[in-house]
Amino acid sequence: MDTEAAAPAPHFQTEQNETWHPSTDEAGRLTIDMGAIAANYCRLCAMHPASRVGAVVKADAYGLGAAQIAPMLAGQGARDFFVAHLTEALALKPLLPPDATLFVLNGLAPGLERRCAEAGILPLLNTPEQARAWYTLAVDRTRALPAALQVDTGMSRLGLSEEELDEVLGWPDFAGQVNIRLLMTHMACADTPGAPANADQMGCFARFAARLPSVPRSLANSAAAMFLPEAAGGVLRPGLVLYGVDPGASGVPEMHPALRLDARIIQLRHIPAGAGVGYGFDYIADRPLRIATISAGYADGWPRALSNKGAVWFEGHRLPILGRVSMDSCVVDVTNVPEGRIRPGDCVELIGPHQSVSDLAVQLATTPHEILTSLGRRFARSYINHPSPDAEKAQS
Ligand SMILES: *Cc1c(COP(=O)(O)O)cnc(C)c1O
Repeated sequence: MDTEAAAPAPHFQTEQNETWHPSTDEAGRLTIDMGAIAANYCRLCAMHPASRVGAVVKADAYGLGAAQIAPMLAGQGARDFFVAHLTEALALKPLLPPDATLFVLNGLAPGLERRCAEAGILPLLNTPEQARAWYTLAVDRTRALPAALQVDTGMSRLGLSEEELDEVLGWPDFAGQVNIRLLMTHMACADTPGAPANADQMGCFARFAARLPSVPRSLANSAAAMFLPEAAGGVLRPGLVLYGVDPGASGVPEMHPALRLDARIIQLRHIPAGAGVGYGFDYIADRPLRIATISAGYADGWPRALSNKGAVWFEGHRLPILGRVSMDSCVVDVTNVPEGRIRPGDCVELIGPHQSVSDLAVQLATTPHEILTSLGRRFARSYINHPSPDAEKAQS
């Protein structure tokens, strides 16, 4: 047994020098900087004074906690919130000011229209069938119902085609029955500002929008809001940048990182040269090593693809991952950390100043959205640095 393993660990110590009392045995701790998210929101508002900056809070605000983040952003003046499902919208509705609007990006499954209308939530009408159901409900109730119309300008994912838009707008008094609050589309290549598809999609959207000249438009996700000023009119729909993650291209000053992930060390040991580490012995020690087992695995969203190639950090030391990442744990090399500096119960940085969500995404050839939304439920979530509401903006 490692001598350090015998040392008592009364509490967990992170590099932020905060004390984390181990009253429960969470895998680790996700620290969410609410002030950073508010600052990122305000930065977008300053970049786009002529636009309304909304907030995409689907998938529990990318795993960071929509119930905390959406009301905080409302306090900073946000009034347009986007989720994927009606159930997500229903959960957030009571937490937001009455004048805030919740949009359901994926549209409604047949039969949910009444529930949605009663809750005062706005669906995206993505198909003629969805538009028909909403329109019919409005006619039945003899009261106009608000909604957003989504059009497909080339991504082939969601929204009405040009012919379908014309069909829908041709229904008797459609615009009188359905109060169209937003005309929306989504860009396929906004993270590649030079892609010809961007100009094509914007041109196509302008053509669609000419049918509804007085309806506010919305086409910009984070990447478009940062890199495509021409796309950033109307209502912006940022997700990623609010959470402090760079949406991809270079040359734009970074937003404030809003997330830190620490996991604790649950065992330390010495192993001799020739010892295998983890399932399949995918790593064999080529010399004696001191190793640490940390309490985060792929069930926590700590990707198995980091096996034998990723790392975690401790006090400026890079600790390479040895062997395969398991479901609930993985093993890292702590040989280079001076004896006595690291103990069971100490925290190592998985995401933070030394390793960003974007770094991980690049390393794993995936999108940062996937890293964020995979972070598991076994991490304790702690919200720090709460901003005070911006009274002036919240009024306007
Ligand atoms: C998820 C989503 C967004 C936000 O995308 P980010 O890249 O996180 O800014 C915006 N619009 C739609 C339609 C989306 O599905």
